Amino acid sequence: MSTLELENVSKQFGTMAALEPLALRIADGELVCLLGPSGSGKSTLLRIIGGFEMPTGGKVLIDGADVARTPPEKRPTAMVFQSHALWGHMTVEGNIGFGLKLRGLKKPEIAAKVDAALRLVGLAEYGKRHPAQLSGGQRQRVAIARCLVLEPKILLMDEPFASLDQHLRDRLREEVRQIQRKLGITTVFVTHGQDEALSIADRIAVMSMGRIEQVGTPAEIYTHPQTPFVAGFIGDMN
Ligand code: ADP
Ligand code: MG
Repeated sequence: MSTLELENVSKQFGTMAALEPLALRIADGELVCLLGPSGSGKSTLLRIIGGFEMPTGGKVLIDGADVARTPPEKRPTAMVFQSHALWGHMTVEGNIGFGLKLRGLKKPEIAAKVDAALRLVGLAEYGKRHPAQLSGGQRQRVAIARCLVLEPKILLMDEPFASLDQHLRDRLREEVRQIQRKLGITTVFVTHGQDEALSIADRIAVMSMGRIEQVGTPAEIYTHPQTPFVAGFIGDMN
C-alpha cells in the first residue's frame, strides 16, 4: 500500500544535467513505465527512487515521507537489474534468502518465505539448484523472487528482460504483470521498448533528454503522442 511522489527531482553529473527538475505521482498498486530512448535519464531516475543515486535536488516521497537521503537498504523498495547478478556459489534458495538472513530472520521463517517466493515465480522445484544450472529466463525469475521475498512496497525494474529473446521477454513480462496485480505492488518499470510499455503499463511516463515529456495511459499516449520517439513507433506500426 504505497504511493510514490517525485517533486522537483533533478540530477547533475558535473555540468551535465541528466535530469531536469521533474515531477511524477504514482498511485498505490499502479505499474508505471518510464519509456524513452537510451540516455534519456530513465535509469538515473529509477536509481534515485531506489536510493542508489542521490538527487541533486528535490524530494522522493514514499507514503508522504521523504526518502531522498535514505540508503537503499532502509527504503521500502527493491530493484531488479538488467543483469540478474545472482551469486554463482550459492543455491537458488541461498540467493533468495540472503537478504532475509541479513535482516536477522530465523531459518524456518526464511525457508517459508523463500518457498513462497519460489512458488510465486513458478520455480518451486528449483531451490536446490545453482544459477549456472538454470536458463536465462529462470535466472531472471530468481532475481525477481529475491526482490519480492523482501516484501517491498515498491518494486523497481530496469530493463529486466533486455538480454532475453523476444518470446521469453513477452512471457516474463506477462508473468510480472500477473504477480504485480496479485500482490498489488506499486511498480516502476524502465524500458526503451514501446511495445513493452504498451502491453504492461497502467500509465507511461515518456522521457527525453532528462525530462518527462508526457504521462498517460497507453491508450492516451499512443492516440495522442507528443514525442517523436512514440510518434515514430506508431508510424512504423501503420
Ligand atoms: P537511460 O537509462 O535512459 O539510458 P541514463 O539514466 O543511464 O539513461 O543516463 C542519462 C544520462 O546521464 C546519460 O547522458 C548518461 O551518460 C549520464 N550518466 C548516467 N550515469 C552517469 C554517471 N554515473 N556519471 C556521469 N554521467 C552519467
Ligand atoms: Mg538505462
